[in-house]
Amino acid sequence: MVKTILITGGSRGIGRATAIMAGQRGWSVGVNYVDNEQAAQDTVQAVQAAGGKAIAIKGDVAVETDVIAMFDTVEQAFGRLDGLVNNAGIVAPTADLTDMSIDRLRRLFDTNILGSVLCAREAARRMSLRRGGKGGAIVNLSSVAAKLGSPNLFVDYAASKGAIDTLTIGLSKELGPEGIRVNAVRPGIIETDIHASAGEPDRAERLAPTVPLRRAGTAEEVAGAIIWLLDDASSYVSGALLDVAGGR
Ligand code: NAP
Repeated sequence: MVKTILITGGSRGIGRATAIMAGQRGWSVGVNYVDNEQAAQDTVQAVQAAGGKAIAIKGDVAVETDVIAMFDTVEQAFGRLDGLVNNAGIVAPTADLTDMSIDRLRRLFDTNILGSVLCAREAARRMSLRRGGKGGAIVNLSSVAAKLGSPNLFVDYAASKGAIDTLTIGLSKELGPEGIRVNAVRPGIIETDIHASAGEPDRAERLAPTVPLRRAGTAEEVAGAIIWLLDDASSYVSGALLDVAGGR
């Protein structure tokens, strides 16, 4: 079935790869971004070139009014909503907990946890059978950091992803009766720009030999799992935490 989805942080990295893969299926995609409009417009064009429809939507997932507006925009543009990819996420420079400032912690938890919870709430309000919706699917981006803990690197980030796992389990039970499946993908070390924001642009290359499959993953390899979890092919899968981490 042709679907309409909203991808938070859909402009770069894993979100961009997911948007393009959705376009290859003829789906309509809301490509959310917060700063880099050029990257969002590039992704919109790539989705259209792949055969789908797309619009770029600026908004900060941690700001409630932005979140409500981005869902309204998708519904106005495409007339429906079938899925949410809760993908926007950030990491801060590597540090011990003792050196983490309150500003860093608030920004990280606001984006990674509050942002995902707010977006899941808006998706549930619009897709729940009880509220007149048609059901749908939510895919949350967690991380294998949720089980590894990331000591001396970014325990704040790892803890935020632990919250995403718990959110996924809880919402899968709460929203299942509403016709909404909720799953998480837990990537390992994936080649995107996120490592540069942790001050380690070569992180994927450096850690590749420590991965059981002996390489970093690509954004497309994660996107494949996300698209499967959105698609009717996974119609009886809910509450799953799917590691896409090369065995890590
Ligand atoms: P990325 O390349 O750094 O891209 C991040 C995307 O999120 C960009 O589109 C960015 O938009 C957007 N964004 C950031 N803050 C936002 C906000 N407050 N509101 C809306 N959009 C925002 O990241 P990625 O590596 O693809 O990661 C995507 C997800 O996978 C994240 O949740 C991450 O934690 C998770 N993950 C990644 C890896 C990895 O190795 N890459 C591993 C495990 C989990 P702008 O361009 O406008 O800033």
